[in-house]
Amino acid sequence: MKQTGRIALVTGGGRGIGAAIAVELAAGGAGVVINYRRDRESASEVCSSIEEAGGACTALQADVSVAGEAQALVKQVLDQHGQIDILVNNAGLTRDGLLMSMKEDDWNLVLQTNLNSMFHVTKPVLRGMLRKRAGRIINITSVVGLLGQSGQANYAASKAGIIGFTKSLAREVGSRGITVNAVAPGFIPTALTRDLPQAHMDAIIRETPLGRMGSVEEVAKTVAFLASDDASFITGQTLSVDGGLSMR
Ligand code: NDP
Repeated sequence: MKQTGRIALVTGGGRGIGAAIAVELAAGGAGVVINYRRDRESASEVCSSIEEAGGACTALQADVSVAGEAQALVKQVLDQHGQIDILVNNAGLTRDGLLMSMKEDDWNLVLQTNLNSMFHVTKPVLRGMLRKRAGRIINITSVVGLLGQSGQANYAASKAGIIGFTKSLAREVGSRGITVNAVAPGFIPTALTRDLPQAHMDAIIRETPLGRMGSVEEVAKTVAFLASDDASFITGQTLSVDGGLSMR
């Protein structure tokens, strides 16, 4: 129980990778706050399973792509728990399409949700971490942010932006004992990847040295490591959890 006494906020933690991260951090002893946007039922179920296992969990609704909602979310967590020791910026979505046919709304929604949300949430969380001279920030990027992907210019731009954000912030706050890292999953079966054509999935698996998709738990364990004291000398890094897909 290495995280006992710590409070973790996981954006988009109601399902998929975020839910697995919440479960893993709670298993390590952290009190977990799950943020969800729409799927209250799934977020409540994740919280219930954490509580049944003896952990502590709260589910809070907010659309983190909206500055005011993200700030209100952080305030609510601080009012309820007094601190945020671990921030996992996980909320994300896709709106795929070739650039020539991509609608501006789809470009903006993906950038607003995946990248701007990091600014909205991280800035108010950082204040308390700076005062405490401690904290862990983990941003979920993607193999697509490293390699690019046809049909995902908006998503790739947002995920590459997260890597630049992570490195810059790591440089800003390292002297205050705060680490900032990114985790870049490869292809993980969740709602996000459910509609990818089978031929596309088969091609990805063929290109992946480990020859399979990853699991949400494999991503979650990496995040939990970066959130732990064991990762105390790691900052500004992007850790790929992709079966070797991005290896060069
Ligand atoms: P899911 O679609 O299963 O989950 C996405 C989560 O993000 C949901 O909980 C959703 O909440 C939440 N969310 C979306 N928009 C917002 C918002 N505006 N405010 C708050 N929450 C929001 O996808 P994954 O679990 O697969 O994705 C999680 C992260 O991992 C994303 O950042 C994604 O880009 C990244 N990733 C995923 C990969 C994969 O292969 N699955 C690969 C690489 C990266 P709600 O359900 O309430 O709408």
